[in-house]
Amino acid sequence: AIPLVVAINTSLAARNGMLVRDRIAMEDARNLDTIIFDKTGTLTEGEHGVVDVATVAGTDEEDALALAAAVEGDSEHMIARAVREAAAERRITVPDATGFEAMKGRGVRAQVAGEDVHVGGPNLLSHLEADVPSPLRRFADTAGEHGRTVVYVVREGEPIAAVAMADVIREESYRVVETLHALDIEVAMLTGDSRDVASAVADELGIDTVFAEVLPEDKDETVQEVQNQGKLVAMVGDGVNDAPALTRADVGIAIGSGTDVAVQSADVILVQNNPMDVGRLVKLSEASYRKMQ
Ligand code: ADP
Ligand code: MG
Repeated sequence: AIPLVVAINTSLAARNGMLVRDRIAMEDARNLDTIIFDKTGTLTEGEHGVVDVATVAGTDEEDALALAAAVEGDSEHMIARAVREAAAERRITVPDATGFEAMKGRGVRAQVAGEDVHVGGPNLLSHLEADVPSPLRRFADTAGEHGRTVVYVVREGEPIAAVAMADVIREESYRVVETLHALDIEVAMLTGDSRDVASAVADELGIDTVFAEVLPEDKDETVQEVQNQGKLVAMVGDGVNDAPALTRADVGIAIGSGTDVAVQSADVILVQNNPMDVGRLVKLSEASYRKMQ
Protein backbone atom coordinates (compact mmCIF):
# COMPACT_ATOMS: atom_id res chain seq x y z
CA ALA A 1 0.00 0.00 0.00
CA ILE A 2 2.90 2.33 0.67
CA PRO A 3 3.83 2.93 -2.99
CA LEU A 4 0.23 3.94 -3.65
CA VAL A 5 0.28 6.45 -0.79
CA VAL A 6 3.58 7.80 -2.08
CA ALA A 7 2.20 8.09 -5.59
CA ILE A 8 -0.81 10.03 -4.33
CA ASN A 9 1.41 12.13 -2.17
CA THR A 10 3.81 13.06 -4.95
CA SER A 11 1.01 13.88 -7.37
CA LEU A 12 -0.52 16.08 -4.68
CA ALA A 13 2.87 17.73 -4.35
CA ALA A 14 3.08 18.16 -8.12
CA ARG A 15 -0.31 19.85 -8.15
CA ASN A 16 1.12 22.29 -5.59
CA GLY A 17 4.10 23.07 -7.80
CA MET A 18 6.51 20.77 -5.98
CA LEU A 19 8.53 18.25 -7.93
CA VAL A 20 9.79 15.50 -5.66
CA ARG A 21 13.04 13.88 -6.80
CA ASP A 22 13.68 12.03 -3.55
CA ARG A 23 10.64 10.84 -1.61
CA ILE A 24 12.66 10.07 1.55
CA ALA A 25 13.43 13.78 1.73
CA MET A 26 9.71 14.48 1.32
CA GLU A 27 9.09 12.24 4.32
CA ASP A 28 11.88 13.94 6.33
CA ALA A 29 10.45 17.40 5.70
CA ARG A 30 7.96 17.06 8.57
CA ASN A 31 10.81 16.45 11.05
CA LEU A 32 13.01 19.40 10.10
CA ASP A 33 14.64 21.38 12.91
CA THR A 34 16.31 24.09 10.82
CA ILE A 35 15.72 25.52 7.36
CA ILE A 36 18.57 27.51 5.84
CA PHE A 37 17.72 29.95 3.05
CA ASP A 38 20.10 31.44 0.50
CA LYS A 39 19.61 35.23 0.55
CA THR A 40 20.02 36.65 -2.92
CA GLY A 41 17.39 35.52 -5.39
CA THR A 42 15.67 33.36 -2.78
CA LEU A 43 14.58 35.63 0.08
CA THR A 44 15.18 38.71 -2.07
CA GLU A 45 14.23 39.41 -5.66
CA GLY A 46 17.88 39.33 -6.65
CA GLU A 47 17.33 42.25 -8.98
CA HIS A 48 19.78 44.85 -7.84
CA GLY A 49 19.68 48.48 -8.84
CA VAL A 50 22.59 50.83 -8.29
CA VAL A 51 21.52 53.50 -5.81
CA ASP A 52 24.74 55.34 -5.02
CA VAL A 53 28.43 55.65 -5.89
CA ALA A 54 31.26 56.96 -3.71
CA THR A 55 34.81 57.65 -4.86
CA VAL A 56 38.15 58.57 -3.36
CA ALA A 57 39.53 62.08 -3.96
CA GLY A 58 40.63 62.56 -7.56
CA THR A 59 38.35 59.90 -9.00
CA ASP A 60 35.29 60.82 -10.99
CA GLU A 61 32.05 58.91 -10.31
CA GLU A 62 31.45 58.32 -14.00
CA ASP A 63 35.00 57.08 -14.58
CA ALA A 64 34.62 54.65 -11.69
CA LEU A 65 31.32 53.32 -13.07
CA ALA A 66 32.85 53.06 -16.54
CA LEU A 67 35.72 50.95 -15.18
CA ALA A 68 33.33 48.80 -13.14
CA ALA A 69 31.04 48.20 -16.12
CA ALA A 70 34.04 47.27 -18.28
CA VAL A 71 35.28 44.68 -15.80
CA GLU A 72 31.72 43.33 -15.28
CA GLY A 73 31.22 43.08 -19.06
CA ASP A 74 31.51 39.32 -19.14
CA SER A 75 29.74 38.38 -15.88
CA GLU A 76 26.26 36.90 -15.56
CA HIS A 77 26.01 37.87 -11.88
CA MET A 78 23.10 40.07 -10.84
CA ILE A 79 25.59 42.59 -9.48
CA ALA A 80 27.26 42.76 -12.91
CA ARG A 81 23.95 43.36 -14.62
CA ALA A 82 23.13 46.19 -12.21
CA VAL A 83 26.50 47.88 -12.76
CA ARG A 84 26.20 47.64 -16.56
CA GLU A 85 22.65 49.02 -16.44
CA ALA A 86 23.72 51.94 -14.25
CA ALA A 87 26.46 52.84 -16.74
CA ALA A 88 24.01 52.57 -19.64
CA GLU A 89 21.37 54.72 -17.90
CA ARG A 90 23.94 57.44 -17.33
CA ARG A 91 25.09 57.12 -20.96
CA ILE A 92 28.63 56.40 -19.88
CA THR A 93 31.06 55.13 -22.52
CA VAL A 94 32.43 51.83 -21.30
CA PRO A 95 36.07 51.10 -22.23
CA ASP A 96 37.23 47.73 -23.58
CA ALA A 97 38.44 45.13 -21.16
CA THR A 98 40.44 41.96 -21.67
CA GLY A 99 41.38 38.90 -19.68
CA PHE A 100 38.10 38.53 -17.79
CA GLU A 101 38.35 36.34 -14.74
CA ALA A 102 35.52 35.37 -12.39
CA MET A 103 36.55 35.02 -8.77
CA LYS A 104 33.82 32.83 -7.30
CA GLY A 105 32.05 34.41 -4.33
CA ARG A 106 34.43 37.37 -4.43
CA GLY A 107 34.02 39.30 -7.66
CA VAL A 108 35.57 39.75 -11.06
CA ARG A 109 38.85 40.87 -12.56
CA ALA A 110 39.98 42.21 -15.94
CA GLN A 111 42.53 44.45 -17.60
CA VAL A 112 41.46 47.90 -18.74
CA ALA A 113 43.87 50.24 -20.55
CA GLY A 114 46.84 48.27 -19.28
CA GLU A 115 45.66 48.36 -15.68
CA ASP A 116 44.56 45.50 -13.45
CA VAL A 117 41.02 46.17 -12.18
CA HIS A 118 38.89 44.16 -9.75
CA VAL A 119 35.26 44.62 -8.77
CA GLY A 120 33.91 42.76 -5.77
CA GLY A 121 32.72 42.71 -2.18
CA PRO A 122 34.38 42.35 1.23
CA ASN A 123 35.54 38.83 0.39
CA LEU A 124 37.52 40.28 -2.53
CA LEU A 125 39.12 42.98 -0.41
CA SER A 126 40.35 40.51 2.18
CA HIS A 127 41.65 38.28 -0.60
CA LEU A 128 43.59 41.21 -2.09
CA GLU A 129 44.57 42.40 1.40
CA ALA A 130 43.41 45.85 0.35
CA ASP A 131 42.60 48.55 2.90
CA VAL A 132 39.43 50.53 2.38
CA PRO A 133 40.01 54.32 2.49
CA SER A 134 37.83 55.94 5.16
CA PRO A 135 35.40 57.79 2.84
CA LEU A 136 34.56 54.47 1.18
CA ARG A 137 34.33 52.73 4.55
CA ARG A 138 31.85 55.29 5.88
CA PHE A 139 29.81 54.99 2.69
CA ALA A 140 29.78 51.19 2.97
CA ASP A 141 28.79 51.27 6.65
CA THR A 142 25.78 53.46 5.93
CA ALA A 143 24.78 51.39 2.93
CA GLY A 144 25.10 48.20 4.98
CA GLU A 145 22.82 49.58 7.70
CA HIS A 146 20.21 49.99 4.98
CA GLY A 147 20.69 46.42 3.81
CA ARG A 148 22.39 47.49 0.60
CA THR A 149 25.06 45.43 -1.09
CA VAL A 150 28.35 47.23 -1.70
CA VAL A 151 31.02 46.33 -4.23
CA TYR A 152 34.37 48.05 -4.59
CA VAL A 153 36.27 49.08 -7.69
CA VAL A 154 39.93 48.25 -7.13
CA ARG A 155 42.53 49.66 -9.55
CA GLU A 156 46.04 48.26 -9.35
CA GLY A 157 45.27 46.99 -5.85
CA GLU A 158 43.81 50.29 -4.57
CA PRO A 159 40.09 50.67 -3.85
CA ILE A 160 39.03 53.82 -5.73
CA ALA A 161 35.23 53.62 -5.54
CA ALA A 162 32.31 51.86 -3.90
CA VAL A 163 28.96 51.14 -5.52
CA ALA A 164 25.85 50.53 -3.40
CA MET A 165 23.00 48.41 -4.72
CA ALA A 166 19.54 47.85 -3.37
CA ASP A 167 17.82 44.53 -3.55
CA VAL A 168 14.20 43.99 -2.55
CA ILE A 169 13.01 41.54 0.10
CA ARG A 170 10.20 39.41 -1.29
CA GLU A 171 6.81 39.77 0.34
CA GLU A 172 6.50 35.99 0.69
CA SER A 173 9.74 35.83 2.67
CA TYR A 174 8.10 37.57 5.65
CA ARG A 175 5.27 35.07 5.65
CA VAL A 176 7.40 31.96 5.28
CA VAL A 177 9.51 32.90 8.33
CA GLU A 178 6.31 33.34 10.37
CA THR A 179 4.88 30.06 9.10
CA LEU A 180 8.06 28.11 9.89
CA HIS A 181 8.32 29.61 13.36
CA ALA A 182 4.72 28.56 14.01
CA LEU A 183 5.80 25.03 13.04
CA ASP A 184 8.67 25.28 15.56
CA ILE A 185 11.33 25.34 12.87
CA GLU A 186 14.44 27.48 13.24
CA VAL A 187 15.12 29.74 10.26
CA ALA A 188 18.65 30.58 9.11
CA MET A 189 20.14 32.55 6.22
CA LEU A 190 23.31 31.76 4.29
CA THR A 191 24.98 34.27 1.98
CA GLY A 192 28.21 35.40 0.40
CA ASP A 193 27.16 38.99 0.98
CA SER A 194 28.61 41.13 3.79
CA ARG A 195 27.73 40.63 7.45
CA ASP A 196 25.93 43.97 7.83
CA VAL A 197 23.75 43.50 4.75
CA ALA A 198 22.92 39.97 5.87
CA SER A 199 22.02 41.15 9.39
CA ALA A 200 19.85 43.98 8.07
CA VAL A 201 17.85 41.54 5.94
CA ALA A 202 17.69 38.93 8.72
CA ASP A 203 16.49 41.47 11.32
CA GLU A 204 13.86 42.72 8.92
CA LEU A 205 12.56 39.17 8.37
CA GLY A 206 12.95 37.89 11.96
CA ILE A 207 15.46 35.24 10.94
CA ASP A 208 17.15 33.43 13.85
CA THR A 209 20.67 32.72 12.59
CA VAL A 210 22.89 34.39 9.98
CA PHE A 211 25.86 32.93 8.12
CA ALA A 212 27.43 35.76 6.07
CA GLU A 213 30.51 36.26 3.89
CA VAL A 214 30.54 32.52 3.22
CA LEU A 215 32.46 31.52 0.11
CA PRO A 216 30.65 29.24 -2.35
CA GLU A 217 32.98 26.34 -1.57
CA ASP A 218 32.23 26.65 2.16
CA LYS A 219 28.42 26.74 1.96
CA ASP A 220 28.05 22.97 2.33
CA GLU A 221 30.30 23.05 5.42
CA THR A 222 27.93 25.52 7.05
CA VAL A 223 25.08 23.08 6.47
CA GLN A 224 27.17 20.32 8.00
CA GLU A 225 28.00 22.43 11.07
CA VAL A 226 24.30 22.77 11.79
CA GLN A 227 23.77 19.05 11.17
CA ASN A 228 26.59 18.33 13.63
CA GLN A 229 24.48 20.03 16.32
CA GLY A 230 22.11 17.10 15.88
CA LYS A 231 19.67 18.95 13.68
CA LEU A 232 17.75 17.79 10.66
CA VAL A 233 18.45 20.50 8.10
CA ALA A 234 16.90 21.73 4.86
CA MET A 235 18.68 24.11 2.50
CA VAL A 236 16.74 26.33 0.08
CA GLY A 237 18.60 27.91 -2.82
CA ASP A 238 18.53 28.82 -6.47
CA GLY A 239 22.08 29.20 -7.70
CA VAL A 240 25.03 27.18 -8.94
CA ASN A 241 26.79 28.22 -5.72
CA ASP A 242 24.11 26.54 -3.65
CA ALA A 243 24.41 23.11 -5.27
CA PRO A 244 26.88 21.48 -2.80
CA ALA A 245 24.85 22.80 0.15
CA LEU A 246 21.64 21.42 -1.38
CA THR A 247 23.32 18.03 -1.75
CA ARG A 248 24.65 18.11 1.81
CA ALA A 249 21.32 19.07 3.43
CA ASP A 250 18.93 16.37 4.63
CA VAL A 251 16.33 18.05 2.45
CA GLY A 252 17.67 20.06 -0.50
CA ILE A 253 15.13 22.44 -1.98
CA ALA A 254 15.71 24.25 -5.29
CA ILE A 255 13.47 27.19 -5.87
CA GLY A 256 11.99 28.85 -8.89
CA SER A 257 14.21 30.00 -11.66
CA GLY A 258 16.90 27.75 -10.17
CA THR A 259 19.82 26.88 -12.38
CA ASP A 260 20.11 23.36 -13.81
CA VAL A 261 22.86 22.58 -11.35
CA ALA A 262 20.72 23.60 -8.38
CA VAL A 263 17.80 21.58 -9.73
CA GLN A 264 19.94 18.47 -10.20
CA SER A 265 21.29 18.74 -6.66
CA ALA A 266 17.90 19.13 -5.00
CA ASP A 267 15.49 16.60 -3.50
CA VAL A 268 12.49 18.82 -4.07
CA ILE A 269 12.02 21.55 -6.66
CA LEU A 270 9.58 24.38 -6.00
CA VAL A 271 8.63 25.42 -9.49
CA GLN A 272 6.54 28.45 -8.59
CA ASN A 273 9.47 30.41 -7.21
CA ASN A 274 7.55 31.26 -4.05
CA PRO A 275 9.36 30.96 -0.68
CA MET A 276 5.95 30.28 0.95
CA ASP A 277 5.98 26.87 -0.74
CA VAL A 278 8.68 25.80 1.73
CA GLY A 279 6.05 26.07 4.48
CA ARG A 280 3.51 24.24 2.31
CA LEU A 281 6.03 21.48 1.73
CA VAL A 282 6.50 20.89 5.48
CA LYS A 283 2.75 20.89 6.03
CA LEU A 284 2.15 18.51 3.13
CA SER A 285 4.80 16.17 4.51
CA GLU A 286 3.13 16.25 7.95
CA ALA A 287 -0.30 15.60 6.51
CA SER A 288 0.85 12.80 4.18
CA TYR A 289 3.05 10.78 6.46
CA ARG A 290 1.00 11.02 9.65
CA LYS A 291 -1.52 8.74 7.95
CA MET A 292 1.07 6.13 7.15
CA GLN A 293 2.28 5.49 10.69
P1 ADP B 1 25.08 34.98 -2.70
O1 ADP B 1 25.59 34.03 -1.66
O2 ADP B 1 24.42 36.17 -2.07
O3 ADP B 1 24.21 34.33 -3.75
P2 ADP B 1 27.57 35.06 -4.34
O4 ADP B 1 28.25 33.88 -3.70
O5 ADP B 1 27.15 34.94 -5.75
O6 ADP B 1 26.37 35.63 -3.42
O7 ADP B 1 28.54 36.31 -4.23
C1 ADP B 1 29.05 36.67 -2.98
C2 ADP B 1 29.65 38.04 -3.01
O8 ADP B 1 30.75 38.06 -3.95
C3 ADP B 1 28.71 39.13 -3.49
O9 ADP B 1 27.91 39.65 -2.45
C4 ADP B 1 29.72 40.15 -4.00
O10 ADP B 1 30.26 40.86 -2.91
C5 ADP B 1 30.80 39.30 -4.62
N1 ADP B 1 30.58 39.07 -6.06
C6 ADP B 1 30.27 37.90 -6.68
N2 ADP B 1 30.17 38.06 -8.00
C7 ADP B 1 30.42 39.36 -8.26
C8 ADP B 1 30.46 40.18 -9.46
N3 ADP B 1 30.24 39.70 -10.69
N4 ADP B 1 30.76 41.49 -9.30
C9 ADP B 1 31.00 42.01 -8.09
N5 ADP B 1 30.96 41.31 -6.95
C10 ADP B 1 30.68 40.01 -7.01
MG1 MG C 1 21.57 33.14 -4.78
